[in-house]
Amino acid sequence: MWSAISSSTASIRGVITTCRRIWRPPSHEPVTTKSQRENDIMHYQCAGIGVGPSNLSLASLLHDHAEIRNIFIDKKPKFSWHDGMRFPEATLQVAIFKDLVTLAEPTSSFSFISYLHSQGKIYHFLNAQFESLPRREFSNYFEWACERNANIHLSEEVERVGFDGVFTIETTRRRITADNISVGVGVEPKMPKFARHSADGTSFHVADFIPNAGKCAGKSVVVVGGGQSGAEAVLALISENCGHIPRQVCWISSRDNFLPMDNSCFTNDYFTPGHSDYFFQQSRQSKAGFVERNILASDGISERLLRQIYQRIYTLRFIDASLPDIALMPDRVVVQVAQDGTQWKLIVDHRTSGAREIIGADVVIWATGFRSARMDFLAPILSRIQQHDGELLIDDEFAAVWDGPPGRGIFVLNGARRQRGLADPNLSLTAWRSQRVVDCIRGVRNAGVAQIPSFVTWAAASPAQNRKAV
Ligand SMILES: Cc1cc2nc3c(=O)[nH]c(=O)nc-3n(C[C@H](O)[C@H](O)[C@H](O)COP(=O)(O)OP(=O)(O)OC[C@H]3O[C@@H](n4cnc5c(N)ncnc54)[C@H](O)[C@@H]3O)c2cc1C
Repeated sequence: MWSAISSSTASIRGVITTCRRIWRPPSHEPVTTKSQRENDIMHYQCAGIGVGPSNLSLASLLHDHAEIRNIFIDKKPKFSWHDGMRFPEATLQVAIFKDLVTLAEPTSSFSFISYLHSQGKIYHFLNAQFESLPRREFSNYFEWACERNANIHLSEEVERVGFDGVFTIETTRRRITADNISVGVGVEPKMPKFARHSADGTSFHVADFIPNAGKCAGKSVVVVGGGQSGAEAVLALISENCGHIPRQVCWISSRDNFLPMDNSCFTNDYFTPGHSDYFFQQSRQSKAGFVERNILASDGISERLLRQIYQRIYTLRFIDASLPDIALMPDRVVVQVAQDGTQWKLIVDHRTSGAREIIGADVVIWATGFRSARMDFLAPILSRIQQHDGELLIDDEFAAVWDGPPGRGIFVLNGARRQRGLADPNLSLTAWRSQRVVDCIRGVRNAGVAQIPSFVTWAAASPAQNRKAV
């Protein structure tokens, strides 16, 4: 039972407490054994696997801790952030303060504001008065943070992680060792079992939209999925700036309607450290129910995007009277797909009536979500890590629960949505989570300035509090 293994809730009032993992003084020089020296194997206090925003945030915070020798490795040749969905109109879903560092370390030189300032465009940014920031600009910021950090190495894939007192990490280029590893390999596209990518690019996941956009010109296109990604694809398809106008666009969602993301203030409390820690303490069953009931807090469509789609349809129908024809089809589940010559036939169940429909298309775009990426490189130590329901079990410091010795952490960033809730894959708590990892490696807890708890009392009163109240 993993809850028995996790430590008790730590104070969130800024008290420095000793980390549960035994702290070893950080070595300023790489620790090398004789055999390591012979083979020139470098040793680090922290080795990060994957450099998306999660580990990029950790790398940015560690940059100011020269005493913690660190390295971060990504297989991509160049930093990118969901480039296959780099829609011209796509905007950031969170406030710009939710960058790599600001919410944990506002004075860090890796903040979005530092980026703007370093580029000489901070006044222009203010004057631009973005209602929502173009996602491409946040991606540019991430790329900037990546480029100015010499501890980040690209074009290198981690293939194998073993353990021999320290972690042994084999990449496509070298072998290194580390006291701690930080796994931040993100998400990969998810499609229904019966769906498939077609070699001719007429059936693909929305993550591959941009390279396949040309396939849609003059065609009948079905987008399956009523979340933010599906909505972004639909807007691109029906907008002139896509450059490849289809003849017809059909948008299918299993939800009752094309539903908005709940971005109201009390809902946004779910994306705060206090709620994240409260959520973490609940039972598995309660967590699953909570995520299901509140899914629109993270997986709905931004209101701005819904409005853009509606206004675009109005313009096409009533002002320009031009293509594409648009069919909006919520409350439907695609249950099968077949290829009939060059046409796709989608078998669709109408949920409310139970009626079955058949929808034909030249191109099918699956906006059916993402799942945690595979971590095959952990195979040599996987049997030593506790797992449940497809996730590595983590403790309240985001470290996997395993049978390794103290001081040897396997930190899991954005790989524990069932345990940590809706905020885990989101940028909202990235900086805070990274700070907790940094603190753990340093052997302290809540070393920064603690923030005032929520206005909302999420947790039930303890028996002692009840007795006091009576
Ligand atoms: C289109 C899109 C838009 C989004 N927009 C927002 C938003 O506006 N706001 C928000 O809060 N969230 C957003 N999200 C959620 C998203 O999950 C996060 O923004 C973020 O990308 C998560 O970062 P990550 O580092 O955990 O994973 P990723 O960004 O997926 O990065 C993982 C990295 O690991 C690397 N990797 C994998 N395996 C290996 C290996 N074996 N060796 C070396 N490297 C490896 C990959 O190359 C990749 O670079 C969005 C998601 C999508 C898909």
